[in-house]
Amino acid sequence: MMIDFKAMESYLETREKKQIFISPETELKKNDMLKLQELANKYTKINIASCIRTKENKKGSFEKDFYIKGVIICPKCKNERKEDFTKTSLMNYLKDYERDLYICVECKEIKRKEAERQYLAKLALDSDKEATNIYIKNYLTSEKSWKRDLSNYKKMKILRNYGINIHTVAKHIQSLSYYDFLSTPYWKAIAEYKRRKAGFKCELCNSTGILHVHHRTYDIHGYELHKLNDLIVLCEDCHIRFHEE
Ligand SMILES: [Zn+2]
Ligand SMILES: [Zn+2]
Ligand SMILES: [Zn+2]
Repeated sequence: MMIDFKAMESYLETREKKQIFISPETELKKNDMLKLQELANKYTKINIASCIRTKENKKGSFEKDFYIKGVIICPKCKNERKEDFTKTSLMNYLKDYERDLYICVECKEIKRKEAERQYLAKLALDSDKEATNIYIKNYLTSEKSWKRDLSNYKKMKILRNYGINIHTVAKHIQSLSYYDFLSTPYWKAIAEYKRRKAGFKCELCNSTGILHVHHRTYDIHGYELHKLNDLIVLCEDCHIRFHEE
């Protein structure tokens, strides 16, 4: 049975001569639903409800609820699915058809996955923050030192292996005084690594003795671990000459 929307609207306007426009014999298709949603936005729930009959009307017969067959349109993907409405559930739907309550199974699953993804991302971020804090506390504090007997290889491996935020670490390094920086386990391991690699000789004049590890550029300060080639091993004399130039 088709709904006579024209008559229904004029009834809703004037509310003269009560008429039933939707009954259990009516099947509400997608376009009917869209039209009814439009009317539900315009007129009151009571007036719309007065156009719907879900009880059997025959004289003497036992009154019982009938379902109205219709569709629910997913507010997210606009796909439709079949639904048996009572008068109340139909009215609720027409008034609140945009609510998440009416989204389809597929969209619900997408929503659930998105929520899960955000939750996991937050957990990962928290654990990165935690790892960065521990890293700073252990390797970028001047009072801290490496355990005895730890090889340089292992120290460098520890410095490299953390799931840390290298920019947070760099900011922390830049906030230290240079003097404090030189006594952090971080710098000590890197300087040891460079001296070893240079064969404990000045990279300019090959002399042994006291060796300094010099920054070719301070632009890399904070990122020394990732810019090892911008560090050079120099004897005291060469180091002085470098800084004089
Ligand atoms: Zn959907
Ligand atoms: Zn220097
Ligand atoms: Zn030298």
